[in-house]
Amino acid sequence: MKPWQLIAPDLVLSAPIFEITPQLMEAQGLRGLILDVDNTLIGDDESEVSEQIRLWVELMRPRYAIWLASNNFSDRRIQSVAESLGLPYRSRAGKPSRRIVRQVLESMQLPASQVAMVGDRLFTDTIVGNRLGLFTILVQPPCDELLFKPSISSIFKARSSFLRNWEIWLARKSGVKI
Ligand SMILES: [Mg+2]
Repeated sequence: MKPWQLIAPDLVLSAPIFEITPQLMEAQGLRGLILDVDNTLIGDDESEVSEQIRLWVELMRPRYAIWLASNNFSDRRIQSVAESLGLPYRSRAGKPSRRIVRQVLESMQLPASQVAMVGDRLFTDTIVGNRLGLFTILVQPPCDELLFKPSISSIFKARSSFLRNWEIWLARKSGVKI
């Protein structure tokens, strides 16, 4: 895998996580989700998940295996989000390190190709997902109303040359050694 491929998500949503629908899951052959928490399920500065996110989890939870994997060091914060949604979780996941996310994947007992890693950050969520062979989905923060355009047509495949070029630029700019 070339370095830029590590930060190329399989799918980019120009909308928050609740645009991941059962139809999308089925189209991609997905049976499980590993979700980032901060700026994916809940805004950085919020302490409770929104009603929209709660309804989305209630829709998805009976159908799919869902875990939370957060880099946040506040176990109390992530535990409270996880308990409010009735989902298992790991905090201090150390993404893009594979160790914790691999343990989560093992608990799910699903092949990596049938599990999506969902998050708002290329350099943590997307990289760890790609390193483990998961399907990677980049989402917008849930609180960013201005960016949110509620249309399924806002989904586009990430491996377009535009995004690829942008990611190469970003990777160089950041100076991150992958
Ligand atoms: Mg995040």
